[in-house]
Amino acid sequence: MLELRPNCELCDKDLPPNAEDARICSYECTFCAACVEEVLGDVCPNCGGGFQPRPIRPRTDWRDGTGLAHDPPGERRRHTPYSGEEITAFVAGVREIPVTER
Ligand SMILES: [Zn+2]
Ligand SMILES: [Zn+2]
Repeated sequence: MLELRPNCELCDKDLPPNAEDARICSYECTFCAACVEEVLGDVCPNCGGGFQPRPIRPRTDWRDGTGLAHDPPGERRRHTPYSGEEITAFVAGVREIPVTER
């Protein structure tokens, strides 16, 4: 199941389960839309993949065994281990390659 991580790994902005600006890569690395667009250029600094909007998990248990009360968001805040300088160099080398060809 998708782990709804609580923050942007780069700027540490809170990204609650209903955040419309949460972005995730295929490994569930989580960043805010501003960082993805303005800093990362749609390159995940941890894996090199692209991003998609994170789906919003319903707060209501519309079906038994679903919803935020049954499957709450993750609590561990994560931070990318790479420095800003390293990320800038990494992104520059990867962003020119189409995400489907990386
Ligand atoms: Zn951010
Ligand atoms: Zn990633």
